[in-house]
Amino acid sequence: MQDLAREEIFKIKPYVPGKPVEEVERELGITDVIKLASNENPLGPSPRAIEAITAFASKVNAYPDGNCFYLKKALAAGLNCAPEEIVLGNGSDNLLMLLGATFLNPADEIIMGSPSFSEYDFSAKVMGAKTVKVPLKNFTYDLEGIAAALTDKTKIVFICNPNNPTGTIVTAAEVESFMREIPDNVLVVFDEAYYEYVGDAAYPDSLQYVRENKNVIVLRTFSKIYGLAGLRIGYGVAPKEIISAINRVREPFNVNLLAQKAALAALSDADFLEKSRAVNAEGKEMLYDVLLARGLEFVPTEANFIFVNTGLDSQEVFQKLLRQGVIVRTGDIFGHPKFIRVTVGTPRENKRFIAALEKVLN
Ligand code: PMP
Repeated sequence: MQDLAREEIFKIKPYVPGKPVEEVERELGITDVIKLASNENPLGPSPRAIEAITAFASKVNAYPDGNCFYLKKALAAGLNCAPEEIVLGNGSDNLLMLLGATFLNPADEIIMGSPSFSEYDFSAKVMGAKTVKVPLKNFTYDLEGIAAALTDKTKIVFICNPNNPTGTIVTAAEVESFMREIPDNVLVVFDEAYYEYVGDAAYPDSLQYVRENKNVIVLRTFSKIYGLAGLRIGYGVAPKEIISAINRVREPFNVNLLAQKAALAALSDADFLEKSRAVNAEGKEMLYDVLLARGLEFVPTEANFIFVNTGLDSQEVFQKLLRQGVIVRTGDIFGHPKFIRVTVGTPRENKRFIAALEKVLN
């Protein structure tokens, strides 16, 4: 295999996904397992999306619209941009890979914060490009540090905002001064997978840079607040030239029919979005209260997950929570071996998590 496969792929560490509920139930012989490990919407999908999936189930003998015409049109209207400034992906993961395939040569560098979402590094490694990791400052993307790390090899800068796994944001003012430092031959990717959860008024309007025709792409997804992670659909917004370059590499039918129909339906469901935001906000406050009362350090979050310092080995905490039917994410994979990342769930799930954590701590 060493001779057969491309050399670059041996440098890739496989992605560690959140453990699926079925797997835990099967392995431990328990039921009623809850997963607070992948930042999914605990309310499920929007009822309108379910209706659309049901209505179009009998149409999957046909290929989907490779251009996602109606979805682009609806997104463009909501985002105040042109349909030609949008690209859809099989999850934003697919778009991250496409960015690598479109823009990265083996000698190029990408810059990302650390710890942050691992797929930026993955898309670089697949292309044989080099990843430069700039440590977070106070759990937050350090844009000054990133600007200082720019070299003439830098091709892409990834900014995860809010950042996974810490839930922190960089502000409009920070982004504004950062953008002044960015040369024209560098693409800036704002990964805004958790955009809809953000409450902080200092959060930037990154689409402004698309409107100014900068080399910027803004990534968002239907996997999080829209509750469609299992369907795989996300989108990017960028100036037309960037979109058309990506379209050269994109496979013709990368977004399936049910995903397109469900996303279109979910977009129109403002009530569901509102409810999802409210459940997250309440859950967050409830968890904060308990963590504060327990004296546990945590990072205040703008997303739907919390990075918590349990003071104990994260693998051990993970296993002990698992045995009580609660799946979280360990911090060791993010370089914080005493932290766990927990998704905010429904009130019932949050209580289960707290009760399970209490047992571990005691
Ligand atoms: N970006 C970030 C920051 C994420 O946390 C995730 C999901 N874990 C993704 C992108 C990918 O999301 P999806 O492919 O489901 O759209």
